[in-house]
Amino acid sequence: MAAKNQYSFFKNVEKSFDKASVFTTWDNGILQQIKQCNSVYQMRFPIKRENGEIVTLEAYRVQHSHHKTPCKGGIRFSNAVNQDEVMALAALMTYKCAIVNVPFGGAKGGIKISPRDYTPYELEKITRRYTAELIKKNFIGPGIDVPAPDYGTGEREMAWILDTYVAMHPAEIDAAGCVTGKPVTQGGVRGRKEATGLGVFYGLTEICNMPTLMEKVGLPIGVKGKRVCVQGMGNVGYHSALFFQQAGAIIVGIAEYEGAIYNDEGLDVERVWLHRQKTKSILDFPGSKNFEKSSDALEMDCDILIPAALENVINGENAGRIRAKIIGEAANGPLSAEADDILNPKGVLIVPDMYLNAGGVTVSYFEWLKNLSHVRYGRLEKRFTENMNLHIVNQLEELTGKTISTVEKDFIMHGADEVDLVRSGLEETMTAATREIVDIWQKTPAIPDMRTAAYVCAINKVATSYAELGIFP
Ligand code: NAD
Repeated sequence: MAAKNQYSFFKNVEKSFDKASVFTTWDNGILQQIKQCNSVYQMRFPIKRENGEIVTLEAYRVQHSHHKTPCKGGIRFSNAVNQDEVMALAALMTYKCAIVNVPFGGAKGGIKISPRDYTPYELEKITRRYTAELIKKNFIGPGIDVPAPDYGTGEREMAWILDTYVAMHPAEIDAAGCVTGKPVTQGGVRGRKEATGLGVFYGLTEICNMPTLMEKVGLPIGVKGKRVCVQGMGNVGYHSALFFQQAGAIIVGIAEYEGAIYNDEGLDVERVWLHRQKTKSILDFPGSKNFEKSSDALEMDCDILIPAALENVINGENAGRIRAKIIGEAANGPLSAEADDILNPKGVLIVPDMYLNAGGVTVSYFEWLKNLSHVRYGRLEKRFTENMNLHIVNQLEELTGKTISTVEKDFIMHGADEVDLVRSGLEETMTAATREIVDIWQKTPAIPDMRTAAYVCAINKVATSYAELGIFP
């Protein structure tokens, strides 16, 4: 847990929950049950490094809520991992899943390591040992608890988790559903890798298309031409930036842990990424201005700021210097409660993490369903749809005597592939969630901000689910 007087991420989440709960009518007992973490598993295990050194590692898995099972949440590899952080992230997962109608309880895991300090061989040993610890205590399984990638982990680690789980459950037919975010060749779903960034883009696009909200922040409607700054060029940040650029936004600033770069005319995301691959740094990207501190990017002049690295990066110390009109919380918990208190009165629109970055868990849900059904999305209907569309096109040409261009024909005839279906499900989910939260916010003028509206939405859904189970009257 966080030491006294230290920033507590979990307390921050509880504070937001309490602020929202006054706008609900649930009994205090129900609210307390929703708030608590149901199970906290803290573990220590040793690994032998390639140089022969033995190190003992600290790791966690927290299941915040069992109101729906399995529990679901990513696994983080970071030196900053601690029990308080994992509890907070698990709680956010419960609320996030409720908002986007994904039928899971919230969970989160973490290992206190910096992946950059370990070789791939050592990381594999650590991931497999962590999985074995989860299996020992029945903390993983397609119907129990399903991890996914988070900060510092990706497809590779998910494949190691799956392989370890399958080795220990050789007869379990649904074993592939024990983890999501896997490579497609290992039971993953097409579209998962970019899902969180794409969800951030869909959510913010919907916001930018709402005239009342744009009037509030004094910006024109639409994404095109908006000036965007992104902190963190990992999975979430890179894909968020890429989708914004493709939609005509101008990416003016990008930050990584080594520093930040700025170009008023716009940075090409793909080229910045390639530059970093080549030089090991985003700094000195041709045509851009260097900033020594990564945090400088947060204070850059832009319309939309997307923090996509870690929590508590905008806090009581720097919030007063933020110039963005919209902050899209792609990371979990990037703003502290003090930052909210400073930025909300200034009219900055804070689009909260607990729904904005829900694209990952939404597509993880699709992957889990794919694993349980043992069939690729689109496999049964793709050819049927194409044959039917071809027939309609032929009939149209015959009846009208006109020819439809090849480009149009190809577009009309195309039957949905897996990635088409996944993206369409994601867009629908993010758009519907945005409208639901904004609707709650606008119908109750006393609700002060969008984060509180999102919590009200989540609390009502989790509490209703308890009530429907008959646990509470
Ligand atoms: P990642 O490890 O792929 O990327 C994070 C990036 O941030 C890395 O490139 C890292 O170098 C960079 N970074 C670290 N410290 C920084 C700093 N001070 N300034 C600038 N950059 C810094 O992680 P990710 O999966 O993209 O996760 C990022 C955030 O998004 C986390 O808060 C995570 O919980 C959240 N999130 C991730 C997913 C997902 O599907 N991966 C889903 C929901 C939420």
